[in-house]
Amino acid sequence: MTLSATARVAGIMGWPVGHSLSPRLHGYWLSEYAIDGAYVPFPVMVDRLADALRALPALGIAGVNLTVPHKVAACGIVDTLDPAAKRIGAINTVVVGSDGALEGRNTDAYGFIASIAETAPGWMAGAAPCVVIGAGGAARAVCVALLDAGAAEIRLVNRTQARAADLAAELGAVVTAARWDERAAALDGAGLLVNATSLGMRGQPPLDLDLARLPQGAVVNDVVYAPLETPLLAAAVRRGNRTVDGLGMLLHQGRPGFAAWFGRDPQVTPAVRAHVLAGFAP
Ligand code: NDP
Repeated sequence: MTLSATARVAGIMGWPVGHSLSPRLHGYWLSEYAIDGAYVPFPVMVDRLADALRALPALGIAGVNLTVPHKVAACGIVDTLDPAAKRIGAINTVVVGSDGALEGRNTDAYGFIASIAETAPGWMAGAAPCVVIGAGGAARAVCVALLDAGAAEIRLVNRTQARAADLAAELGAVVTAARWDERAAALDGAGLLVNATSLGMRGQPPLDLDLARLPQGAVVNDVVYAPLETPLLAAAVRRGNRTVDGLGMLLHQGRPGFAAWFGRDPQVTPAVRAHVLAGFAP
């Protein structure tokens, strides 16, 4: 790849950053659309995040994605936050404006909904209760996405009950917190089940959840993408539920940033999915 003197540059800041699949994703799109640009992994330590972000305009960098552990801290460094970022309390995308201002965005909620819309067409957020397991960063993005998509009832279940109760109180009456030992009963009549914990990830125990009370028409979504088929998704497939894996959310959340930095709305195709999948053992 040869870059011209006017090439656009974006990247991802994290610590560590080597595990990130985003360079593979954006690199594929840059090549597919023959864009004069580059997407670079930036290993940035926690205490250098402010310096690194503030250097972006001076370096002419169009913006960055942010990953662990920077998503929350960056909110206090950027100049403006988009509405989703304010509600979620975390940013995963920074866009440098023409005046050098840093705009923080959160595109995880967008990625989550776009992935369901693509994989489970016809599913409607408001048609039946949604059950979300977890109350961390991913769960916050999922709940905001579901609220914006018209959910009428969100049942939030988290091991640490207080975190679920706090999030429910923050997001309003549509969201109610159920106890961890009530998680199987919370599935009664649900139209969507989302695992937004890290359970089921490679190296973690599986999510211990009896699906017996989940309606067969419900969609089951796992935000975990390594492995691609988590024990939860495998159990859902066995009983005939439609499933949505976490890779779709990861791919779709990258689209708004790419469009802002490189001027082209990239498509999530089977080819880009296969390319990113090849970057880790499914
Ligand atoms: P957080 O650390 O913010 O939250 C972790 C959540 O998992 C909490 O709700 C925590 O519960 C729960 N949890 C962890 N261990 C256990 C356990 N042993 N038993 C019960 N609950 C447990 O992480 P994130 O929300 O940022 O990430 C969660 C997952 O989502 C990760 O696997 C991440 O890779 C994935 N993710 C995927 C994305 C995608 O694009 N597909 C985007 C963002 C995240 P408690 O509060 O009790 O500790």
